[in-house]
Amino acid sequence: MTSVFRDELYIGDAWVPPDSSERIPVENPYTEEVFGHVPAGTAEDVNLAVSAARQALHSWAATPPAERGAALGRLHTALAARADEIARTVGLELGTPLKIAKAIQAGLPLTVLAGYAELAARPVAEETIGNSLVVHEPVGVVGAITPWNYPLHQVVAKVGAALAAGCTVVLKPSELTPLVAYLLADAAHESGLPAGVLNLVTGTGPEVGAAIAGHPDVDMVSFTGSTATGRAISHAAADRIARVSLELGGKSANVILEDADLVKAVKVGVGNAFLNSGQTCTAWTRMLVHRSHYDEAVELAAKTASGYTVGDPFDAATRLGPLVSAGQRERVRGFIERASARLVAGGLDAPVPSTGHFVAPTVFADVDPESELAQEEIFGPVLSIIGFSDDDEAVAIANNSKYGLAGAVWGSDERAVAVARRIRTGAVDVNGGAFNPFAPFGGYKQSGIGRELGAYGLAEFQQVKAIQR
Ligand code: NAD
Repeated sequence: MTSVFRDELYIGDAWVPPDSSERIPVENPYTEEVFGHVPAGTAEDVNLAVSAARQALHSWAATPPAERGAALGRLHTALAARADEIARTVGLELGTPLKIAKAIQAGLPLTVLAGYAELAARPVAEETIGNSLVVHEPVGVVGAITPWNYPLHQVVAKVGAALAAGCTVVLKPSELTPLVAYLLADAAHESGLPAGVLNLVTGTGPEVGAAIAGHPDVDMVSFTGSTATGRAISHAAADRIARVSLELGGKSANVILEDADLVKAVKVGVGNAFLNSGQTCTAWTRMLVHRSHYDEAVELAAKTASGYTVGDPFDAATRLGPLVSAGQRERVRGFIERASARLVAGGLDAPVPSTGHFVAPTVFADVDPESELAQEEIFGPVLSIIGFSDDDEAVAIANNSKYGLAGAVWGSDERAVAVARRIRTGAVDVNGGAFNPFAPFGGYKQSGIGRELGAYGLAEFQQVKAIQR
């Protein structure tokens, strides 16, 4: 088995020894073996990284757009040369099946970074309003704290946008999947990104994450993760009125109207709910079906779920890998155990490989919209099906959530778009509209604050100044 032991942090433009000799083991969730480790960083490491980022800020912010764009272009080239290694690393540390790892875990961040290299090269927008010249400036030193489910994409969505805006970054990836972030730091080093523009400090949330969120010299904290941690980070940043952007949890509805292409809506819906073993913040975990098609939809969803090949992420036939950790599997099993709805596929007794943190693809029908199954983010391969009688009821059920991240509507175009407009989430896909990596991404309600990706994502990392003449 490949081992990946990283013993240094990336601070300034150098690989440096960490403050502490403690290491965080990295487990392969399929074999359940430890195959690597990274430093358990400390607040002292964060201090050094923040100071390197602060030192680099003035010059990076003053770098002309064309040069900044070219530097990000070189970073992209160096990262793209590692595409296979990225997919393999995410396969090993997260358990994403290789085909999906190549397309999404490696392909998506490369697309996003290429977009930011292009946006960085454009002249920064200025406008005149009356006697004011309105200019955009980088917000400053950014702390980026990311989760484990799309471990490079979530990093690049922040780092690409922040660097394109002229900010410098201290990055703390998830301690469960820290290895892929090292490939970005390797690429930064190799591509000659100026010293201190990107710094990597690995470690736990309570130690390194909290030190970044509470650091007096961090101007903005950009966070993706759970709503509970987002709340803690907001509290820490509030003390010094630092800017935060938060990408948090979701409980998205897939609304299948009576005039939908039922077979497509159900099949794509199940695929979306189980992508990355259901560990996707935008997953359509509530399937809302018009009563006239309800029984047919339940049968089809159960059949589709039961047809999934579950197993080794590195086997080409596998569609569903393990969950990231034993803890996550136990959490998901707890939701299934407590559920009081009708189990139509999977469940706790369905066969899964004997090693690896597996949960079988599971479908519940007749789910009460107020129940825990329909209200809480499960973050595993568990789909809830709920019936409705008309568009108004569908919208009411879809909006009956503390979250507001994503969703879908299927039906005749005009009607589906009308329903999509009434759903209170940051994104809605109509009739299978593809994910757009340049469109604004983010949440309403407790799904977050701010937007990532594309030009909207870049604007999060800018201050706006009015100069009166
Ligand atoms: P998490 O909140 O436990 O951890 C996320 C990151 O925060 C990790 O790097 C962790 O070390 C750090 N952290 C933990 N405690 C901290 C603290 N007190 N201070 C500072 N940092 C701290 O989330 P997770 O379990 O890694 O990820 C799963 C969650 O992320 C799910 O709820 C999912 O919905 C959400 N998510 C949201 C999006 C989105 O874009 N909206 C995308 C992916 C995942």
